Amino acid sequence: MLATPSDAQPAASAALSAAERQRYARHLSLAEIGEAGQARLRAARVLIVGAGGLGCPAALYLAAAGVGTIGLVDFDRVEESNLQRQVLFTSEDIGELKAERACARLAALNPGVQLIAHAIELCAANVRETFAPYDLIVDGSDRIGTRYLVNDACVLYGKPLVSAAIHRFEGQAMSYVPGRGPCYRCLFPEIAEGTLPSCSQAGVLGVLPGVLGSLQATEAIKLLLDIGAPLLGRVLVYDGLSMRFDEFRIARRAECAVCGDHPSIHAPQDPPGFCTVEEQRRVPRLLPRELAAALARESGSLRLIDVREPEEFARGHLPGAINVPLPRIEQQGFAAAQAAPCDEVARERLVFICRSGARSLRACALLRRSAGREVLQLEGGLLAWREAVDPTLAL
Ligand SMILES: [Zn+2]
Repeated sequence: MLATPSDAQPAASAALSAAERQRYARHLSLAEIGEAGQARLRAARVLIVGAGGLGCPAALYLAAAGVGTIGLVDFDRVEESNLQRQVLFTSEDIGELKAERACARLAALNPGVQLIAHAIELCAANVRETFAPYDLIVDGSDRIGTRYLVNDACVLYGKPLVSAAIHRFEGQAMSYVPGRGPCYRCLFPEIAEGTLPSCSQAGVLGVLPGVLGSLQATEAIKLLLDIGAPLLGRVLVYDGLSMRFDEFRIARRAECAVCGDHPSIHAPQDPPGFCTVEEQRRVPRLLPRELAAALARESGSLRLIDVREPEEFARGHLPGAINVPLPRIEQQGFAAAQAAPCDEVARERLVFICRSGARSLRACALLRRSAGREVLQLEGGLLAWREAVDPTLAL
């Protein structure tokens, strides 16, 4: 069930009930929290962006800690490969909406917490209304574009932000509080070209987001209670292999595009090549056997566009396919991204191909928006092709 944050939460000043005193006894024993701090947590509203590897442990600890209202933004469904690190979900949740399953699990952990599932894709058009009811944002998204969107929205709307990122065995975390230090864009001014792959491609130690997500929950609680020294102007770096924490200091940049003295960003922006899941759902698809039959029948009217990276393409591809990597399409548009334009025969149907079907779906969705021509996607990608048509294909 979807709910909206209400004003029905007890005020921060209201006394704790006997049950709350029992549940939060170990917090009440801490002079830094005590009954007043616990009541403050109960009145707090935290939004977690992404119910993935980072969002799951962060949400578990924030719900357990008694943060009164917790929202979770995630439009994805639980996949089997998530279970290695996304500890809110069980095998029975596969195929279900993450935001809804996460809320159900957290409600079982702490029925005193109001949980709000936002099963939406966060974008420039909805970030303002999504963030508005919340006091603090925890960013656990695994997409670089979302990280900039969240950062910029927090700066523009004056929301404290606790962010973290993970890669293989390493992670980093930092916090932002309006007016009190640098933002994520001060650290990384622009989205780098050839952006880091998400962990669906790169691999990540399952317990790593557990460490970073727990750090995010710690930071969120400290900021809500105004205790301790948050990660402002400091980036905490964790290396699981050498088992070392390190930190480096960063200063606010006066020329930062969003928090600087003369900002050029006045509204949240979608990253280059952004397309919604709904646009991707509308892409027409071909199953491997259908593509094989179409190629046998009318190969002259089909153009195969392989959107994987050049080194993946070099390992093996379908005969006649040309390589136009997705990042180039996202940055430059399809027409400009082609080394040898295939526009001469405008009646050609373009079939987009990648390894598992995710990147080609994005490419198709982007192209359907601009070009009026027919585009198709190989469903399941070359992995499905190898399964159904040609087991000898090298990937
Ligand atoms: Zn900044």
